Amino acid sequence: MQALSQLSYSPPASVQPRLRQAQKYIQIGKKCPILAQVWANAPSPHGRAITLRKCRFRHWFLSSAFANKIPLIMTAALIDGLALAKTIRVQAAQRAAICASKGRPPGLTVVLVGSNPASQVYVRNKVKACEEAGIRSTLIERPESLTESELLEIIHGLNQDPAVDGILVQLPLPKHIDSHQVIEAIAADKDVDGFHISNAGALMTGRPLFQPCTPYGVMKMLESIDAPIWGANAVICGASNIVGKPMAMMLLAKGATVTLCNSKTRALEEHTRRADILVAAIGRPQMIKADMVKPGAIVIDVGINRLATGKLAGDVDFESVRRVAGAITPVPGGVGPMTIAMLLINTLESAERRLHISNS
Ligand code: NAP
Repeated sequence: MQALSQLSYSPPASVQPRLRQAQKYIQIGKKCPILAQVWANAPSPHGRAITLRKCRFRHWFLSSAFANKIPLIMTAALIDGLALAKTIRVQAAQRAAICASKGRPPGLTVVLVGSNPASQVYVRNKVKACEEAGIRSTLIERPESLTESELLEIIHGLNQDPAVDGILVQLPLPKHIDSHQVIEAIAADKDVDGFHISNAGALMTGRPLFQPCTPYGVMKMLESIDAPIWGANAVICGASNIVGKPMAMMLLAKGATVTLCNSKTRALEEHTRRADILVAAIGRPQMIKADMVKPGAIVIDVGINRLATGKLAGDVDFESVRRVAGAITPVPGGVGPMTIAMLLINTLESAERRLHISNS
């Protein structure tokens, strides 16, 4: 995180105390990083007292902490994806109403093949969000036995349908269907998931018709807290086509220095500890621990993992990392709702293009 005086924007009043707090904490961490780190992670006041007793910088640490009036445990600001998504969905409903008044409501068709329970939940949530926003949504459900050519035929039909602004084929598809073939069959100007090769390619050059919903949602979350992206070290754990790679392109486009890690990355923690902005999109529950996070960092948790207890968990160990980070997204209630909100926005943008409605 840059020094406050170096920030090229004026952060809103609501985040300024948090930024100042993060900055002070970083100053302390520079003088005595081990103490700062251990202090933030100590599970109890007793643990912190032991840590402090062992540290030769303890007088300096305590006097600067008290002089700066910072709490001796950092608690990260929560980036509330649920609340932000709600605001975006209200705006989406207003735009959908304009489309309806100027011709027809925006239309999204979702294709679900097979009976994967997680996919059924995702699809239900997407359809419900569309209905609430006034976007006409159609769900095409087909059994696992559907052949690739039958699926391609459905897509060709939707490509020709003038009332369909967006086509979304829920992934993963059954193993006998080549998902690349299917995605490339979707008309690029209806590819609201942003996975088509021409949208993915255009993202590299900076002019995609659609941006993939999850990283697009993450960018909106960063924007909502006025995150200093320009010049920041952004580290993304996970390099999938749908999250990690487009996330890297979007952060790069906003001026970040981006490191993209994958399962072969050596000493992952050496990369993550340098991150001003850390995005976890791995699919391993609670893998990012507090000692992998730079004090004051912005931590975005994309992961959605079902624990043995039935509870949902992200890729970040929320309870420990929130004591180190400057800002953090929860799971659930973080990136997930934003992904759906951005699907609505992509569908609206498509409809507005077709209906020649300017949204500037
Ligand atoms: P994916 O396709 O399985 O990709 C996982 C990525 O993580 C791969 O690039 C993999 O590296 C990398 N990886 C695996 N182990 C690693 C390790 N130890 N260190 C560093 N990188 C490692 O997963 P995905 O579709 O991107 O999804 C990732 C997570 O996000 C999942 O939990 C998923 O449920 C969640 N998700 C959430 C949303 C949402 O709306 N919130 C949307 C999409 C996905 P390799 O490339 O080397 O295999």
